[in-house]
Amino acid sequence: MIKKLLIANRGEIALRIVRACKQLGIKTVGVYSTADEDLMHLRFVDEAICIGKPNASQSYLNTAAIITAAEITGSDAIHPGYGFLAENAEFAENIEEAGITFVGPHPDHIRLMGNKVSAINAMKQAGVPTVPGSVGTVTLHNAEEQAKNIGFPLLIKAAAGGGGRGMRIVERFDQLNEQVQAAKQEAELWFGDDSVYMERYLQNPRHIEVQVLGDGNGNAIHLYDRDCSLQRRHQKVLEEAPAPDIPDDIREPILQACVKACENIGYRGAGTFEFLFEDGEFFFIEMNTRIQVEHPITEMVTGIDVVVEQLRIAAGYGLSYRQSDISVHGHAIECRINAEDPQTFAPSPGKVTQYFIPSGAGVRFESHLYPGYEIPSYYDSLIGKLICHGQTREQAIAKTLHALDELIIEGIKTNIPLHRDLILKDPKFASQAQNIHYLEQCLLPKKTK
Ligand code: ADP
Repeated sequence: MIKKLLIANRGEIALRIVRACKQLGIKTVGVYSTADEDLMHLRFVDEAICIGKPNASQSYLNTAAIITAAEITGSDAIHPGYGFLAENAEFAENIEEAGITFVGPHPDHIRLMGNKVSAINAMKQAGVPTVPGSVGTVTLHNAEEQAKNIGFPLLIKAAAGGGGRGMRIVERFDQLNEQVQAAKQEAELWFGDDSVYMERYLQNPRHIEVQVLGDGNGNAIHLYDRDCSLQRRHQKVLEEAPAPDIPDDIREPILQACVKACENIGYRGAGTFEFLFEDGEFFFIEMNTRIQVEHPITEMVTGIDVVVEQLRIAAGYGLSYRQSDISVHGHAIECRINAEDPQTFAPSPGKVTQYFIPSGAGVRFESHLYPGYEIPSYYDSLIGKLICHGQTREQAIAKTLHALDELIIEGIKTNIPLHRDLILKDPKFASQAQNIHYLEQCLLPKKTK
């Protein structure tokens, strides 16, 4: 087993990883920037080490500082969490070259999936359905030709894109070249890579994703699916598992295709295949080669600890479960709780004065907050995740509503009212799953979109 693991992350996910390590008897090392000395997980780790200045580029994104910290502390593994360096193939490579175990896939697979054009090609080869789109990357030379085959409206996306950034809808042929040029410039600026590609713009899809685990030796299983359609600016706000209202004969082939794709490449660790789902059809859009924010809803319905599985796989123990061991029980919902103004969505860092977290059967709150904690302004605004499990979707919604009433976070602004008053009390959402535009188009006041 891994003896000592360095957590190359902060916030709620760092605490989550500490818990999984404790369960497996693994010693932990926390790293922090000078803005993060008060992080809660640092009280629970065996050792803590400062890796640099508040700006992420000088700390949580500093590969050399993190690997040096692992060497100084004698850590034999590094868990990257999500965000920061989690999907950086070079980081994973450097870790392995230093003789340290990277808790994640082989760097080649991070690279393959990190470029969405190569990811889509790999999926096509594995028989996973993809969105009708360009063949390879799009240049000013071939854009018109490619667009004719796709039709309008279409979406230009950055091959190296992420976080919902770098996407442009093109409605008409005469806008195409101008938009391709702009998209390339934007992609270069944000991702340091100007490659772009095009996809048919699906009008009213849902976002559905499949959680997988692979052992790196050609064996893989799936942990069913999640619906992450409630989004603002292509960023997930609320997720649920399993994805509601998908007939088994449509769900099953997609789950199988994901498993097969993992087996074909010998995928190692946890991963997520993201799809758009429209008119009964699935279309692959990308694969995330890391633990996802919304993994707890899968844990609640399957009873499997995904982070523990990541650690066991990284240590070479293989998969703890066969596919036939996995089944879904009930329904789970996750609300992402952000430190932000519920009206304007502007970040709201600052001191937490009052703090009370809900609990009870099937209620889980993943967070690093505590009374008196000062949320720094340098990082993501996610401060907690409320996850509620019920026997049915209706019960899960009811439980989430009660839990949101009990959740008290004062001193800063949060999006609790958005979850409680706009989403979970909405009769249409309560009656059935909605598409990716529903939150912005039907629930949010016009000016905040
Ligand atoms: P990122 O890596 O930036 O998150 P994704 O490819 O995962 O980008 O897409 C993010 C979101 O953008 C999706 O969940 C969906 O809401 C929207 N989207 C992506 N591709 C399409 C498409 N072809 N048609 C319509 N919406 C799309």
